[in-house]
Amino acid sequence: MYKVIYLMGYRFSSSKCLTICLGLTFIMGCFLASLPIQFDLAALPKPVRHQISSEFPPKKRLALIVPFRDRFEELLEFVPHMHKFLNKQKIPFHIFIIQQADSNRFNRASLINVGFLLTRNDYDYIAMHDVDLLPMNDDLKYDYPDKAPIHISSPETHPKYHYDTFIGGILLIKNEHFELVNGMSNNYWGWGLEDDEFYVRLKDAGLNVNRPDNIKTGPEKTFKHLHNKMYRKRDMRKCYNQREVTRRRDRVTGLHDVSYVLTGQRQLTIDTLPLTVHNVQLICNVNVTPWCRCPEPQKPSKS
Ligand code: UDP
Ligand code: MN
Repeated sequence: MYKVIYLMGYRFSSSKCLTICLGLTFIMGCFLASLPIQFDLAALPKPVRHQISSEFPPKKRLALIVPFRDRFEELLEFVPHMHKFLNKQKIPFHIFIIQQADSNRFNRASLINVGFLLTRNDYDYIAMHDVDLLPMNDDLKYDYPDKAPIHISSPETHPKYHYDTFIGGILLIKNEHFELVNGMSNNYWGWGLEDDEFYVRLKDAGLNVNRPDNIKTGPEKTFKHLHNKMYRKRDMRKCYNQREVTRRRDRVTGLHDVSYVLTGQRQLTIDTLPLTVHNVQLICNVNVTPWCRCPEPQKPSKS
């Protein structure tokens, strides 16, 4: 007995039917293999994009270093502003808030030294950046300062400081130059003069300071200075021999001997924009710089 199959009116034995089926499969396979291969690329899952620049050579990376204590309202305005401002310039950057978390007087220069040590392996240059100074003119370019440091907040455009050798506020410097001058002096506790001392360091190392030369907006409109001097009083006290020592160039302290303890690190966002906060306890050698804590002035007695 063998099975008989009727197909489209024809009579086939089952073995014949199997042969025909195999034959048809083979012909279909050959036909499909001969077709050109087409993928719908849009339908494929997208690869995960990491922040690797396709530019060659790759763009230099900027660590925006903000020495900081007790300026939260300013920070809330600073972070969104800087993201918008630097994204327009397509600068790869990250904001590092170096928050002084000890009971010594504020030391802007030592905080910048610490910020540099924390970022130098991953970034190519730093901006030492006041938290309360917002650049308003898009012609202020935060480009890699290859030849020499770039002073963004020049005396012609800074809202408050107009002397020739002023380099405070916002200064860009590449890692090699910051290391060359041994960073900033650690002797400046309280407000002022640390930037003037840094200017002398740069000069002694033969480094010029470049400034943007095409800015027409003047001291009124180039920056917004979020500084109410009644509310944010500058700590101008001078005690012990502070005045005498801080008038002179410091050839001893700097990047290599800044003394500190890291007490915490946080990744934050403000309006979804990322920043890193490092909490830093600066260690003061009171034998060398006793003015890191000025004694409170004696109140007159009531008798
Ligand atoms: N700063 C701070 N807390 C302070 C003092 C200063 O965060 O108690 C930081 C902040 O980034 C500020 C910068 O140091 O923008 C410069 O200080 P300040 O604004 O007092 O100096 P100015 O340039 O206005 O004389
Ligand atoms: Mn200020």
